Amino acid sequence: MTDELFREDASLLECSATVLAVDDAGVVLDRTVFYPLGGGQAGDAGALVNEAGVVLAIADTRKHKERPGAIAHVPAPGAELSAFVPGTRVVARIDAERRSAHQRFHTATHLLCALIPHPVDGCSITAAHARLDFHMNEPLDKDAINAGLARLVAEAHPVRHRWISEEELDANPGLVRSMSVQPPRGLGRVRVLEIEGVDLQPCGGTHVANTADVGDVVVTKIEKKSAMTRRVVLGFAEPAAG
Ligand SMILES: [Zn+2]
Repeated sequence: MTDELFREDASLLECSATVLAVDDAGVVLDRTVFYPLGGGQAGDAGALVNEAGVVLAIADTRKHKERPGAIAHVPAPGAELSAFVPGTRVVARIDAERRSAHQRFHTATHLLCALIPHPVDGCSITAAHARLDFHMNEPLDKDAINAGLARLVAEAHPVRHRWISEEELDANPGLVRSMSVQPPRGLGRVRVLEIEGVDLQPCGGTHVANTADVGDVVVTKIEKKSAMTRRVVLGFAEPAAG
């Protein structure tokens, strides 16, 4: 079981931790700031550094398939693991630039949900772009969506998470926007992400603390993926020339 520090504070870039296990899936720590692939958001990369200063590059992060509740830090190909046996004390440090991109794009996908009030049937968030598939057949206006995004960013809405009971979630079925990613059940509580006055939905991902921090994220492409799917792709705006 790994203590998931990123769930309570997405701004943490590093933490101290102890190696619990090392196996084919990767390195398991007792606590971590590394977000594992899930809910459409890519896993974190970064490094583990032991007390002697030996660095283990981490290429990706996944939920451990065989150890429920454990998070696997996936070593970069060819990495030397001998200095990271169980019991080793480490500093776990994420790639801050990559994570920041994930947080900005992830928060922007929530803004899209507010601008495009249709169910979501697919989502992918990486450091280079994000895409959201909406279950709808009406055409979408790229310029109008970009104007809406820019407005919500400029309005600087606070972003925060809280935990609600499963009963509360069941009493508000409209909270669940995604057809493909249902919130995890059976834990008694569900994490919801609120963008004040804009959007509220279950989400376990990492986000910026204020919509102003989303910055220059724009719609780069809108595609008709099928009769009932419109895909919206987000990217970072090119810096203005000159
Ligand atoms: Zn989210």
